[in-house]
Amino acid sequence: METRLLDANLPEDVAAVAAVLRDGGIAALPTETVYGLAGNALDPDVVAAIYAAKGRPSDNPLIVHIASADDLPRIAREVPPAATALAERFWPGPLTVVLPRQPVIPDRVTAGLDTVAVRVPAHDAFRAVLRAAGVPLAAPSANRAGSPSPTTAQHVVHDLAGRIPAVLDGGPCDVGVESTVVDLTSTPPRLLRPGGVSLEQLREVLGDVGVDPAVVGEMAADQTPGAPGMKYRHYAPAAPVVVVDGTAAEAAAYVRAQGLEHPAVLCFDEEAGAFAGFEVVAYGSEDDPRSLARGLFDALRALDRPEVSRIFARCPAEDDGLSQAVRNRLLKAAAFRVVRADAPAGT
Ligand code: AMP
Ligand code: MG
Repeated sequence: METRLLDANLPEDVAAVAAVLRDGGIAALPTETVYGLAGNALDPDVVAAIYAAKGRPSDNPLIVHIASADDLPRIAREVPPAATALAERFWPGPLTVVLPRQPVIPDRVTAGLDTVAVRVPAHDAFRAVLRAAGVPLAAPSANRAGSPSPTTAQHVVHDLAGRIPAVLDGGPCDVGVESTVVDLTSTPPRLLRPGGVSLEQLREVLGDVGVDPAVVGEMAADQTPGAPGMKYRHYAPAAPVVVVDGTAAEAAAYVRAQGLEHPAVLCFDEEAGAFAGFEVVAYGSEDDPRSLARGLFDALRALDRPEVSRIFARCPAEDDGLSQAVRNRLLKAAAFRVVRADAPAGT
C-alpha cells in the first residue's frame, strides 16, 4: 500500500482524509498531543485495522475522539457532573475521561471493558475531519506499538509507511505527550496517565483525585492497572534507557564510569556541556517543562539506533503537570530503572 502524505493546511487534503475515514479506512492525523491513527470507532472491522497497523495488543483499549461534549451521551451511558465540569474547563484539549460505555461502542475499542475513554481534541484539522466524517473516531497514537509516540508526520511515516493509506501533516505537535487520562467511574476519580492537563488542575475541578500506582511504578505481572495499556513496555528505543539522578557533573562521571562503547545521553539544554565527549541529545530546557514534553519523543527516536549501547536520561523532578507527564514517559521508557549518579559504577 502506498502511504499518501497530505497537508493539514489544505482544505482539499483535509476533505480527502475525512473521505477515507467515512469510507471505512484509517489515516494518521495530527492532534495537539501526538499524531493519532484514526478510524470509525463504531465499526469493529475498522478498529481491528487500527490494531493491525500498529501491531497493538488487543487488550490495550483505544480513546474515542468526539467533536464536542454534546456527543458524550452517544458514547457514555452515564455522564456525571464531574465529566461535564471537566469538559467545560478543559475541552477541547488534552484530557481523556473514562466513563461507562454505551453498547454502540464495540468491544474491540474498549478491549472488552465496560468503560470507554473519550476526549474532544483541540487540533483544528482533527476537528474538521471529525465534523466531516460525522462519526466518533478511535485514535491511538500513530506509532508501531512499543515505540515512542509520533509528534511529527515524519515519525508516522517512519513507523507506518506502507501500512496505512494516508498521513495528514500538521507539523510538530503542540503538547508532545499523550493526553491526561482520568477515570471517573471510581471514587474518588483516579489519574491513570499524566499529560497536558495536570493533577493540580484536575483537583481544582474535582477535589480529591487518586493516582493509579502504574503512573509511578512498574506493575507486577499479577497486578491489573487501571489503564490497561500501562503494563506494556512503551516509548522505548532499541537500547536500554536508564534515568540518572544527581547533578549533571555527577551524572557525567557516572556515565564515564560505566566504560561502555557508544553510550548516549538524553539531557536538558542547559547541561549539554557537562556531557561533552558523549553522544548528546538535548530535549528541552529544564526550566520549561513544555519544551521537554515537545522534545522528548523526537529525542528518543533520534537515539533509536543500533550502535547506541545505552541511553542515560536526565529527567525533570515531578513538580508540576507536564513535568509529571515527562517523568512518567521517561520512567516507562526506562522500565523504571533509576540510578543515583553517586552510586558506584556498574550498579
Ligand atoms: P493511546 O491511544 O496509545 O494513547 O493509548 C490509550 C490509553 O488510554 C490506553 O493505553 C489506556 O491506558 C487508556 N484507556 C483507553 N481506554 C480505557 C478504558 N476504558 N479504561 C481505562 N483506560 C483506558
Ligand atoms: Mg500509544
